[in-house]
Amino acid sequence: MVLDKDLSLIVQCSANAQQYLRVAADELLDQKPEQVLGKRITGKARNELRTGSRLSGPLSIQRDIDGRKTRLQVNAFRSGDAVIVEIEPITPLGNRRLMGTVNQWLTRLARAETPGALMDILVAGVRDITRFERVLVFHFDDEGHGVCLAEDLAEGLSPVVGQRFAASDYPAEQREKFAAREVRSIPDLGADAVPVVSSAALSEHRIRDIDASGTVLRAPSRRQRNFLDDFNARSLLSLAIVGQTGLWGMVTCISATPMPLAPTLRDAARTLVTMATQRLFLLKARMESSFLLQVQESRDFLVEDVKAGLSPTAMLEKYGNEWLVFFRAAGLAFRTKGEISGFGVTPPLKTIAEFARRLEQSHGQGAWVSSRLRNEPLAAGLELNGCCGMLAAPLPGEDSEGWLMFFRPEHDRTFYWAGKPDSDALVSAPASGQDLHRTFSAWQEEVRGTSDPWKPIERQAAVDLGEDVALLASASEITRLNEMLREEQQALARANEKLREAVSHDSLTGIWNRYRTEQELDKELAKARRHKLPFCVLLLDVDHFKRVNDTWGHEAGDELLGHIACEVNGVLRQEDHIGRWGGEEFVVVATGAAREDGVILAERIRKAVAGGRISRMPEGVTASIGVATWRPEDKRKELVARADRAMYAAKTGGRNRIETDQGL
Ligand code: GH3
Ligand code: MG
Ligand code: MG
Repeated sequence: MVLDKDLSLIVQCSANAQQYLRVAADELLDQKPEQVLGKRITGKARNELRTGSRLSGPLSIQRDIDGRKTRLQVNAFRSGDAVIVEIEPITPLGNRRLMGTVNQWLTRLARAETPGALMDILVAGVRDITRFERVLVFHFDDEGHGVCLAEDLAEGLSPVVGQRFAASDYPAEQREKFAAREVRSIPDLGADAVPVVSSAALSEHRIRDIDASGTVLRAPSRRQRNFLDDFNARSLLSLAIVGQTGLWGMVTCISATPMPLAPTLRDAARTLVTMATQRLFLLKARMESSFLLQVQESRDFLVEDVKAGLSPTAMLEKYGNEWLVFFRAAGLAFRTKGEISGFGVTPPLKTIAEFARRLEQSHGQGAWVSSRLRNEPLAAGLELNGCCGMLAAPLPGEDSEGWLMFFRPEHDRTFYWAGKPDSDALVSAPASGQDLHRTFSAWQEEVRGTSDPWKPIERQAAVDLGEDVALLASASEITRLNEMLREEQQALARANEKLREAVSHDSLTGIWNRYRTEQELDKELAKARRHKLPFCVLLLDVDHFKRVNDTWGHEAGDELLGHIACEVNGVLRQEDHIGRWGGEEFVVVATGAAREDGVILAERIRKAVAGGRISRMPEGVTASIGVATWRPEDKRKELVARADRAMYAAKTGGRNRIETDQGL
């Protein structure tokens, strides 16, 4: 029945109403629904549909038909300007004990440990409850092709599990509609279509479009006819498996005979599907999180190795095998500013270097993936050594020439298809038995030249891992410099010592130089990004320092700079660092400091500078300090630039004061 939007009048009705409602269809038209459904049910439906688009669950009414009491199930939903009411008889189940059976299957579903096992239980359970001859689960892949994942079927039928159905068989808009309505039942393909009678006043009710596609019981579409024809089947029940991103798949039940399924059984089958859907996504989430956990554990160990000064090459030896297993890869490699290393099956190192260079030029943010390297412009003209898939994660750091790469080999697969073949498919003789009478071809496709695809979660994990590798690589860069120097042995021992100092220290003040300070900033940035721990950068510029030189001489200026460095160092915490940024400018890196901590520290420093004296100068100097607090998107340059701007604001604000980067 179709009602107007207020559920006040019946405007359309199937011609077979008499059979179930004891009132002829044309007599129902323009009547109030209360007359058919009763006051209570009509009121309830009106109430629920005021806010919702569908009844929260089916309602039931009782009617005397030929002296026998018959129960009818009532469903209703809004569609455009109208409300559609579906009425069907609840056929008694005889002595079947449905609850017990359903519970047994639900328990088994809840215990399934893998998606495969889950799907097998689901088809067996749905078949046990519905008694259809064949129950299948299809999954729609990213391209919309359907793959039959599991099947339960009567003896003597030929299986189709593993078969793929081309996306054109089940177009995207059909899938979308189905995801919304979830259940579709065709008890008998051969049943005569029942016409619909309409009220003459239909147009007066201003009901324009009545979209009946949300109904469970409806004449089959052309597509469904074809599908059932291919299987020589006469009845169909489809149940949607809906994930967060839409239709994940569907359970399809078919039989060669009509299956007038009691609505109770249909609902029971649907309960199994709902339970299996929840379990499926739970299992998937669990698999993903155990993968992340493994990678995380590996990272925790790696942090220890960074402290112990492990070299990147030694790191590959230590973790290579483990990472290949985690990422289901055959080889991995990385390129940092300092070195290139490979582990397992990788392209030649020359290619790795070239990949890194090209990625640098063409690729923006985040990881880069391909499962068909040979077709990528990025790989043009390069020796790939059989590698077919690549996942490349950038290593953080300002020079950003670093990449961590995983490689997968080619993975030949054979897909068994049914539907309309694409032009380049290899068509083979249909492998179907007598019960399958396909009006279109079955064929087989050999997929070559691709690797297993990379999952988003694997990309994320590689990016995370890249952060630690970068840290280790930069720590090892210093170690490497030292090792090179150590090779010169005793003759150079003292020069080495000086050089080491020179690499990291400023000769005038003895504190860290700019190079070393920059390294510290990068480490601090990586740490902050990883642990979400804020820190502050203070940029200190001595006020009117030129005057000091002009009045007291350059040497006095030099001495004063050393003195200031010493004074500031004296008020820092153990874990904070000061470096000479250049001229009369200093940078302080305050670990773990939020903005307020940074301001307190800056104030302490400002006082220390203002209070300091050297003997050859009667008056002291002051300093202006800019405080910048780390922001998650920060690179080193931006962070320091903000500190610089804040410092400049302190200058223009009168000197001998502090400004923060708030609002800068
Ligand atoms: P302001 O308050 O605006 O910062 O004034 P300022 O005079 O400090 O600013 P400016 O940047 O114009 O001058 C900085 C001076 O610091 C210029 C240079 O002569 C002096 N200077 C830079 N490096 C050294 C150094 O290593 N030793 C000495 N003695 N002086 C230096
Ligand atoms: Mg200056
Ligand atoms: Mg100055």
